[in-house]
This record gives sequence, C-alpha cells and structure tokens, in this order.
Amino acid sequence: MISVDAFHLPYISLDGPRNVASASLAAGVKRVRWNVAILEGIDAQNKYDRQTRQILKILAPLNLEANFKIWPQGRAIKNLRSFFPSQSLKGDCPEKETNLVNPNCISLDPSGWASICWNLAIGNAKKVPLSKVLTNYHWKTHPIIRALVEKGPRGLIDLPESEGFNFQEEKYIDKCHLCVEIRKFLKTDYPGIFV
Ligand code: SF4
Repeated sequence: MISVDAFHLPYISLDGPRNVASASLAAGVKRVRWNVAILEGIDAQNKYDRQTRQILKILAPLNLEANFKIWPQGRAIKNLRSFFPSQSLKGDCPEKETNLVNPNCISLDPSGWASICWNLAIGNAKKVPLSKVLTNYHWKTHPIIRALVEKGPRGLIDLPESEGFNFQEEKYIDKCHLCVEIRKFLKTDYPGIFV
C-alpha cells in the first residue's frame, strides 16, 4: 500500500509513489494499492478531498485499486477533528475479520515489527523470520488482540492492566482512536510485544 493524498503531497512529490508503484508492478508484486486518506468522501468538496481526487486522476494510468481510510491519530486529531463524524465507541473492532482474525495486510517498521493494525504487532521480523511470524499467528494467543476480537476496543478497558486509564468518552473520535490510546497506556505492561 503506497500512500498518496493531499496530506502527503507537500512533503513527497508524486514521482516517489509513482516510481514505487511502477517498480513494484514490474517486479511482479501482487496487490499493489494506493493508501488514500479521505476525510468525507472521494466526491466531497472540502479542499483536501478535492486535491486528493486530482492526485488520483493523475495516477489513474497506473490502474491501481485504492484503500480509503484516515486514522484519527497525531495532528489529524487536532487539525481535522471537525471533519470526523462522531461514532459510537461500542461494538466490534471495525476491521475485526480483515485485520485481526484473518489479517490481509501487514506493515513492517524499520525495527522489524510486523503490524496488522496501527502499532499492533504480531511479531518482529528481525527476531523471527517473517514467514514464521505470519504462519504462527493466531488471534487467540495474543492477549491484546484476543480482547479486541472478543470484546471490541472498549473491552480493553476491562483488562486488569488498564486500571488507571483515564477513559473520557467525549474525547475519542471513534473506536480506533480509543483503541490506540488504550494500547499506548498498556504498552508498559507488555514490553515484549508492540501494542
Ligand atoms: S485501531 Fe483497534 S479498533 Fe481500530 S481497526 Fe485497529 S485494532 Fe480495530
């Protein structure tokens, strides 16, 4: 997944993602996709989505599919808050089947952590071969992922290690925002895994 959108453009010219995509396709990599941060919708009129639409038009000759998502993290929480529709914090992880139970995508960071969602690693490819990390994975064996699958992001609050977490319902934009905030709090209790 190669990031292209109005938010990356000021820092990375389109030649970068275009070259990565072309090289990946030439090397026979399957399922090369654009990873696109969309705020309201691909047809929306706000200035960010309008520019992203133009970017995708320019890149259309490469004929790649696109994943649309924006994460309520970092500066987006502060600067783009008004664009995020408010969502219930109750219920399942919105990507339970595709991210947690049968992950269809991982990201590797420079330290080797292989994550199936934002900073949610299932192993470290510098310590264990990536093929083993992937084939050994089962959601039931990972304490945080198990809680996420069985109880949803709010269920993380019930973990004994979450005692002391300052849950403020109105603060979170959506379940993913809550999930990441609790995982940051839990991190110190799980030094051997990346959550
Ligand atoms: S951040 Fe948490 S709730 Fe959101 S998709 Fe990832 S695992 Fe699921």
